Amino acid sequence: MARKTPLYEGKAKQLFEGPEPGTLIQHFKDDATAFNNKKKGTISGKGVLNNRISEFIMLRLEEIGVPTHFIRTLNMREQLIRAAEIIPIEVIVRNFSAGGFAERFGVEEGLPLPRPVIEFCLKSDSLGDPLISEDVIFAFDWADPMELDEIRVLAYRINDYLCGLFRGAGLQLVDFKMEFGRVFNEEGYEGIVLADEISPDSCRLWDTRTGEKLDKDRFRRDLGKVEEAYQEVARRLGVLSGEGEFSPIEEKAKKQPTSKPKTSTAGRASERKKAVKPPKPAPKKK
Ligand code: 5GP
Repeated sequence: MARKTPLYEGKAKQLFEGPEPGTLIQHFKDDATAFNNKKKGTISGKGVLNNRISEFIMLRLEEIGVPTHFIRTLNMREQLIRAAEIIPIEVIVRNFSAGGFAERFGVEEGLPLPRPVIEFCLKSDSLGDPLISEDVIFAFDWADPMELDEIRVLAYRINDYLCGLFRGAGLQLVDFKMEFGRVFNEEGYEGIVLADEISPDSCRLWDTRTGEKLDKDRFRRDLGKVEEAYQEVARRLGVLSGEGEFSPIEEKAKKQPTSKPKTSTAGRASERKKAVKPPKPAPKKK
């Protein structure tokens, strides 16, 4: 049966209407882009691997109490997620210098940072995802101070946990990008959840022993063996077996979209968010 038109088409994913109100289907593609869409390509099997890697990570994060948009995996390329109002900010956490950070400050890659560095970028392809300050976030009302505090706390917690998870798999989490969104239930605003995906597309992962890059930098920098690197990450996390078989899709006892609001942090930033939607990112520069 032909699929409906996606509600949203991104560089590596599509979003379709979900089976129930408040849900969406997130479809992982094999397409890859880099350098603000200047480099385009396909990484065969990437969508399948990222779907399962992201599922694994989201489930582990849920187990330590991090709220995520993930509901369940539907098939090899698709997962059911909660519809979230995406906060238009890329939250980057860095443990070592690399990529944009190394370039910006003229330092070599691989320098350990004494404490994790959080950076915020505007999610805007047309502007090239520029680095933004907290004041800019508040000026455009992309998030309020309470929400940004909550995002920072979650970002450190997720980073701490993932550093350990990847270390156990012989990988260093050099840096990674996250997106967060607001979820609502029938009673109104419910809270902030981790959205999008966490996968070798959005993380820099280096082999702890050899320093070999096992992430999207292999595509960005034409290092070859791109598919193999994604498979290796899946294998080390136990998502893929040595024989190339995927582990069974995990069941999870999870809140449904209609669950009651949490009492912890949800009440704070919630009041105005019930009625007020953040404006769209800044218009494209002339
Ligand atoms: P950098 O700013 O050094 O280019 O990227 C920092 C980290 O965030 C890297 O792990 C990179 O993969 C991730 N990242 C930054 N921007 C994006 C993006 O637009 N999409 C994805 N998937 N990851 C990104």
